[in-house]
Amino acid sequence: MSMMIDGRAMARALSDRTAASVERLRTSGVDPALAVILVGDNPASDIYVRRKIGECRKAGIRSIEHRLAADCDEVALCDLIDALNADPAVHGILVQLPLPAGIDATRVLDRIDPAKDVDGFHPVNVGRLSTGTRGLVPCTPLGIMMLLDSVIDDYRGLNVVVIGKSNIVGKPVAMLLLEREATVTVTHIETRNLPDIARAADVIVAAAGAPHLVRGYWVKPGAVVIDVGITRVIDHDGTSRIVGDCATHELDHARAVTPVPGGVGPMTIACLLSNTVMAADRMAG
Ligand code: NAD
Repeated sequence: MSMMIDGRAMARALSDRTAASVERLRTSGVDPALAVILVGDNPASDIYVRRKIGECRKAGIRSIEHRLAADCDEVALCDLIDALNADPAVHGILVQLPLPAGIDATRVLDRIDPAKDVDGFHPVNVGRLSTGTRGLVPCTPLGIMMLLDSVIDDYRGLNVVVIGKSNIVGKPVAMLLLEREATVTVTHIETRNLPDIARAADVIVAAAGAPHLVRGYWVKPGAVVIDVGITRVIDHDGTSRIVGDCATHELDHARAVTPVPGGVGPMTIACLLSNTVMAADRMAG
């Protein structure tokens, strides 16, 4: 049997460390705070925002919620971001994606002060990541690296195949892996012979959003598999469940795999909290 990497336990441990850092900052007069902006009434976004705010509370991070109507003006949203950028009591700013049609997400995200960009999506932070000078690193890739670090000591020369080339998962995780001197192949929907490419990998990071894309025969014995995918599927009886990108039941020959749910997801939120505290720490000088 392959080993299941317990993302929930690792996320709890990280959040405990974050809570301890919050306490330490408080004693030096800094009260770490995250501003969360939700535009519109997307039910999934609402759930994500509630979860993030709930986890902030548990770690002792103050959260400030701003809800704007779906038809809000982009200028009003940018004005709010400007005000939060200028507020010294706010250390992190998160704009929940996706934004409603008609609002240019790139323009909005670019407005956030890079020092408060706890999602790590601002071009300045993307540039720092790609040059190996650390700014704020996107939460999901950061969480993936921590999960991998629990089973891999030395990445030098390992063949890593990343499936998916998005700006929020595939590309940044590839940058982090390159920094560790892995040999990284980034693949996507147009990649040819993906099963053959995957089969050569020591590590597979699957972030395609394609349920059970990675089958047993794609994975070489002893490989480590990180399943980032989250797809909600409805069963015949009308019940819904979350499915990852990997056919985990076919991966007994892997060395270690992450479950879905309970793998990357909890780490993403825990990393959001740790990024917020890191931003507060850096601002405090
Ligand atoms: P995206 O839609 O922006 O990008 C998907 C990428 O996968 C694209 O590059 C596409 O070319 C590639 N792809 C799609 N189908 C493919 C296929 N059949 N073969 C090869 N490549 C394929 O998605 P994203 O935002 O990067 O998210 C990817 C998945 O990860 C989604 O299921 C998303 O819900 C999940 N996700 C999970 C977390 C978490 O915290 N666990 C965070 C972010 C994203």
